[in-house]
Amino acid sequence: MNKTIRSYNLHNYRTIPQISFLSETMIKDIEIVGRVLPFKTNNYVVNELIDWNNVETDPIFTLNFPRCEMLSKKHYAAVEKELDRNTAKEVQDKKIQQMRLSLNPNPAGQEYNVPYLGEIKLKGIQHKYPETVLFFPSQGQTCHAYCTFCFRWPQFSGMNELKFAMKEADLLFKYLHLHKEITDILFTGGDPMVMTASVLETYIRPLLLPEMAHIHTIRIGTKSLAYWPYRYLTDKDSDEIIRLFDLVNRSGKNLSIQAHFNHPRELSTVAVEKAIRRIRSTGAQIRTQSPLLRNINDKPELWAQLWRRQVDLGCIPYYMFVARDTGSKHYFELPLGKCWQIYRKAYRQVSGICRTVRGPSMSDHAGKIQILGIQEVKGEKIFVLRFLQGRNPKWVDIPFFAEYDPKATWFNQLKPAFGERKFFFEEQQSKLTVTKPFLFE
Ligand SMILES: *Cc1c(COP(=O)(O)O)cnc(C)c1O
Ligand code: SF4
Repeated sequence: MNKTIRSYNLHNYRTIPQISFLSETMIKDIEIVGRVLPFKTNNYVVNELIDWNNVETDPIFTLNFPRCEMLSKKHYAAVEKELDRNTAKEVQDKKIQQMRLSLNPNPAGQEYNVPYLGEIKLKGIQHKYPETVLFFPSQGQTCHAYCTFCFRWPQFSGMNELKFAMKEADLLFKYLHLHKEITDILFTGGDPMVMTASVLETYIRPLLLPEMAHIHTIRIGTKSLAYWPYRYLTDKDSDEIIRLFDLVNRSGKNLSIQAHFNHPRELSTVAVEKAIRRIRSTGAQIRTQSPLLRNINDKPELWAQLWRRQVDLGCIPYYMFVARDTGSKHYFELPLGKCWQIYRKAYRQVSGICRTVRGPSMSDHAGKIQILGIQEVKGEKIFVLRFLQGRNPKWVDIPFFAEYDPKATWFNQLKPAFGERKFFFEEQQSKLTVTKPFLFE
C-alpha cells in the first residue's frame, strides 16, 4: 500500500469529502479565523484520526482546523467586516498582519538564544543551555500539519523576519567545533522530517565524523509520527530514512526522536504502530512530549492513557509542557494550579516505567521551570517550583517558591512567596544580555 500525501489548507479544504459533516457556522468560522491563524492538514489526519461524527468537540479536529473561539471577538468581527466589505487584498493583508503581530508570535526572548560565530549571527541556531543546541535547517521550516496552538506559526505565514533558519550547514559545524561543551544537537523547525532523506543526511553525516566526538546525541523533534507516519513506511525515501537512522546508531551515537503526541488517538492507528516499530528497529529511541491543552487533553485519564500506550509501543515519556503565551493561547490555556493537578492525577495512576515524564514545565526566558506542587507553609499557600534547565546551570534543581495564584497561567504572572522582592535568580538574570545570554559559572 502506497500512501501519497495530500495537503489541505484554507484554499482547498472544501474538497475534503467529510467537510459535508460541518455546519454552515463551522465553515464560516474556518473562513474567518483561518485568515489570521494559518492551518494545514492532510489526508491521514482527515481519514484516520478525526472523528467526523463528533466534529463539534473532536480534539483532533480542534488541533487541525480553526474554530471560532480561537480568535478574540474583536478580531473575529474585524476580519468578518473586511471580508463582507470585500476591501482590496493589500488592505486586508495589512490588517491581518497587524493582528498576527498582536498575538505575540515570538514569545520568551528567543533573540537571546541566537549565538554568534565571530561577527556572524547564526540565525539557524539557538543555544540557550550549555549542552544542547537547537538547529533549524532551512529546508525543515514547514510541517506536515500546523497545530492550531503552535507558537511556530509565524514562520509559516510569510513573517520572514522572524524565521530562524540556517542556509549553511557549514556554519553549524564551525560552531560545534568551537563549543566542545555541546553534547546534543536537536534538529527542529517547523518539522525536520519534512526534509528529504538526502538533505537530512547532508546535515547528519558530518556529525558522525571523529572531530564531532563530543556530540553524543542527535535529536530530531517531529510531529510526523502523529500526523504522517507513512514518512517511515511508504514515502519514496522511507527506506533511506531508516538506513540513515541505522547509520547513526551504528556510529555509536544516540539518536533520539522527540515525538510530539497530544492525544491518545494519535497512537491508535496501524500506521503509527508500524512506524514506531520500524524506527525502533534501527536502535533509535523515541521520546515523547506535548503541551497540556484545554479542549484537547485536559483530563488526567488521557495523559495516563497516553503514557501507557507510549510505553507499550516502546517510547519514553519525556515532557509535559504548559501552553505558551502565543497565538490562541486563551483557547488552550489552563491555570498553573490546574496543570499540576492534572499532571499529578495522571502520574499517580501509572507505574514507574511511565514516570520518566517531567512536567508541567514552562519554557520561560530564564529556563524550563517545573511546577513541583502546591503547598501551604505556615498559613501561606505557595507554588513549589524548580528549574529543569536554566540560563545558569547552577539554578537547576533548587526548589523555590511563588505565591499561589489561582488564575496565573504563566510564570511571569507569579510573585515570590513569603514577601520576598525577587526570585533567587533574578539578580543574575537581569545582567544577561543578547550577547551574553547565559552564565556558566
Ligand atoms: C528544552 C530545550 C532544550 C533541551 O533540553 P533538555 O532538558 O536537554 O531536553 C534545549 N534548548 C532549548 C531552547 C530548550 O527549550
Ligand atoms: S508540528 Fe510542531 S512546529 Fe509544526 S505546527 Fe505542530 S507543534 Fe508547531
